[in-house]
Amino acid sequence: MSAHYDFVIVGAGINGLLLARNLANAGAQVLLLDQAQPGQESSWAGGGIISPLYPWRYPTAITALASWAQDYYPGLAEDLAAETGIDVQCRASGLLMLDAEDSEEAIVWAQRFGRRVQQLEKREIYQREPDLAAGFAAGLWMPQIANVRNPRLCRALLASLESSKRVEIKSHCQLLGFERQNGRLTALKLRDLKSGRDQQLTAPGVIITAGAWSGKLAAAAGLKLDVHPVKGQMLLYKFPAPPVASIVLTAGRYLIPRQDGHLLVGSTLEYAGFDKQASDQAADSLKQSARAMLPKLADMEPLGHWAGLRPGSGDGIPLIGRLPGFDNLYINAGQFRNGLVLAPASAELMKNLLLGETPIVDPQPYAPGRESLRALG
Ligand SMILES: Cc1cc2nc3c(=O)[nH]c(=O)nc-3n(C[C@H](O)[C@H](O)[C@H](O)COP(=O)(O)OP(=O)(O)OC[C@H]3O[C@@H](n4cnc5c(N)ncnc54)[C@H](O)[C@@H]3O)c2cc1C
Repeated sequence: MSAHYDFVIVGAGINGLLLARNLANAGAQVLLLDQAQPGQESSWAGGGIISPLYPWRYPTAITALASWAQDYYPGLAEDLAAETGIDVQCRASGLLMLDAEDSEEAIVWAQRFGRRVQQLEKREIYQREPDLAAGFAAGLWMPQIANVRNPRLCRALLASLESSKRVEIKSHCQLLGFERQNGRLTALKLRDLKSGRDQQLTAPGVIITAGAWSGKLAAAAGLKLDVHPVKGQMLLYKFPAPPVASIVLTAGRYLIPRQDGHLLVGSTLEYAGFDKQASDQAADSLKQSARAMLPKLADMEPLGHWAGLRPGSGDGIPLIGRLPGFDNLYINAGQFRNGLVLAPASAELMKNLLLGETPIVDPQPYAPGRESLRALG
């Protein structure tokens, strides 16, 4: 690894992959590292809903990134299909939220931010989704919300980057720590996990996009940043054809229909450190929630069950920007439950900050170190 890089990106989940793409498209030379295989952690495990769940319950900083990204996704999917032949199936299935108690707030939020939310009566719910369990009385319908096959999205991004002359990708390469002189990061300490060899690398700019592990890496740079793992488990079923037309959400649990009849059921929220074990208890709880939505599932067993680690952040808002005390160390992490929807906007904002461009949104709410800044102010 003696080549000259403008930027080293540490972590090749959706955030690292998209940032590498954006920087390379802007003419930068990029090295993208991952301690495992790219796109196999949270970005693989997620559901691919291109919206926060109950989006009106989030701060404006989340709506700003989500809205930008929702408008960007269809074009990204088209570009990736043309570049790689991989159809990531970004499909506007719509999002149906049942029995939400705060529907008035949803309508006010939709008017304020120009998003489409419609209140549905009981009859309209069952016209839309005849196989749902009886007893749902009211719904909120967001027709424009899409879901994407996120494992394919990561595969397509990787295939596209692999064909770029400006990007080098190194798997099984772990960032162990940093060399620093005054406020400048002078070298990265890396380990090739296949050969066991350690090496050092210099680069003008380094960006941490290591998902749930980003807090650990910040700690290795001597910084205390609240990015922590939040485990989520999912189930996968298979039908001959989609058993529901739209994403269906009630009481925090959801069904996501894929075009080919796969149905995802999610998800748990568990604070269990870096443990990624899928548990029978979580499977039972998810099965129960799913059957309460879709009685057809009562006689079926899931084909798949897995867990992933979401990158949680202290205030639920991602950290995007330069790390305090460093000239050339940056972070883009902490997207929590919304990493897939927010990724295109997070990567674009990070690129804007790295290249001195006009940012797509006000970067202040995402500034790393904002907690300590708030405490001082
Ligand atoms: C069950 C579940 C359901 C979800 N559903 C949705 C959804 O429907 N919609 C949505 O928007 N979001 C969803 N999410 C959240 C979303 O998946 C995440 O927020 C997002 O994928 C985070 O992406 P990332 O690139 O930051 O992290 P990751 O995808 O976790 O990637 C981080 C990468 O960093 C690498 N890494 C870590 N440490 C090092 C190191 N020291 N050196 C080198 N590499 C390192 C890892 O190997 C990994 O590949 C869900 C998550 C889960 C778990």
